[in-house]
Amino acid sequence: MSGCDHAVEYIYQYLDEEISFFRKSRIRMHLRYCSNCTDAFEFEHKLKDVIRDRGRSDPPPELFDTLRALIEEERQKDEPGI
Ligand SMILES: [Zn+2]
Repeated sequence: MSGCDHAVEYIYQYLDEEISFFRKSRIRMHLRYCSNCTDAFEFEHKLKDVIRDRGRSDPPPELFDTLRALIEEERQKDEPGI
């Protein structure tokens, strides 16, 4: 489960081309073996395409709130119950 926190955070920046080549490489490596982050990444990626297709530059903020909640939910499933 190591690396997920960073990967999920960086996915947003990755998709916006805001992070360095080094970090992108690390995310790619993480995505190779982490299905959780791969799902989140692909979902985000498709979402961006949809938004772009519609010619929208400003996705509604609530959309990202929903996404973050979904990712947070997935992350918590990985943690052992206390
Ligand atoms: Zn991960």
